[in-house]
Amino acid sequence: MALTAAASAATRAAAAPLAIARVDAIPVALPLKKPVVMAGERIERSQSLLVRIEAANGLVGWGEASAAPLMTGDTLPGMAAAVADHLAPLVRGQDALDRAKLAARCAGALLHNTGAKCALDMAINDLVGRHLGVSLCDLFGGALRDEVQPMFLLGNSRVEDDVAEASGKLKEGWTFFKLKIGIKAPAQEAEAALAVRRHLGEEIALCADANMGMKFAEARQFAERAREADLLFMEQPLLAEDFEGMAALARESPIPQCGDESIASIASIIALQRLGAIQGANIKTIKLGGIGVTARAMSVCAGLGLNINLACKVAESSLGASAIVQLGCVAPNLNWGLSITNHYLAEDLAVTPLRIERGRVARPRGPGLGVEVSEEQVRRFRVG
Ligand SMILES: [Mg+2]
Repeated sequence: MALTAAASAATRAAAAPLAIARVDAIPVALPLKKPVVMAGERIERSQSLLVRIEAANGLVGWGEASAAPLMTGDTLPGMAAAVADHLAPLVRGQDALDRAKLAARCAGALLHNTGAKCALDMAINDLVGRHLGVSLCDLFGGALRDEVQPMFLLGNSRVEDDVAEASGKLKEGWTFFKLKIGIKAPAQEAEAALAVRRHLGEEIALCADANMGMKFAEARQFAERAREADLLFMEQPLLAEDFEGMAALARESPIPQCGDESIASIASIIALQRLGAIQGANIKTIKLGGIGVTARAMSVCAGLGLNINLACKVAESSLGASAIVQLGCVAPNLNWGLSITNHYLAEDLAVTPLRIERGRVARPRGPGLGVEVSEEQVRRFRVG
């Protein structure tokens, strides 16, 4: 009986219009325009895993996930092995139109490894979008907006450089900035936030991200001293697992609190909200493990009254950027901004990289991710 069922499933898959014929896991290292410094991390070259899926009908879909050893625990060789050895065999020969079932199968077969699951799920959704001739926005409920205003990351070691950089970006039309904190003493960080705010004026959105680089007393001190900087939110000052500390801080802080490294699943969003530890969540496809689960997490946040901030890790190419922009266009409550990071790269993987113009980026209208990958660029930056 089991054999018959397996044989009939195989027959159906072989006859399916979108049978997955080939899955390639491709590690790449992309050069950045300049190194990005944040608490606990300095990034010179961005490491991403690409997944290329080819269907039996010749259509190709692409997905991407950034290595994030300090966020998801995913390393580049680890993600490549997770896809090649564990996840690819679960989807090869299957119908990509069964994308939700395939994502559930991958989620159930391997704990964690959200980066690998993300790259694979993104590639399957890109493939399905191309097959159906619809964008990712249309695959996930339809666009509520046609463009988003990404935030610019300020992470210089000297406040004068942050102010000068913000000044240039302000002139280019950027309207949302994120200050990397958690590196210097909290009083200095607060002074920097106040200086940047004075320079930006009152109308521009400003937030700060500590990437777990603060102790409780430091975070409280920063929040009190930076009060006048009118930060939209303060992101993940404490360690990822310190839910109680985050709740205590949220009770005392005059600045709303956003979780990032703490958010590894929809369950963690709900747990943090119930504790009163966050007023908003930083959502990344690499943390949740794909496009479908990210769309569900956005709905959960909306239902719980949480603000959301959608983000790529530093730095993902136009593939990851398109996914975040399109999810941002369907998000009901995208009121804490969005970060794409392909503009920090000296080299992109797209034939026509996603561009930010006057601080805005339009949603790609082509099928799937709407990004044409340059296979020549992929070969050039492949590292394994
Ligand atoms: Mg963050």
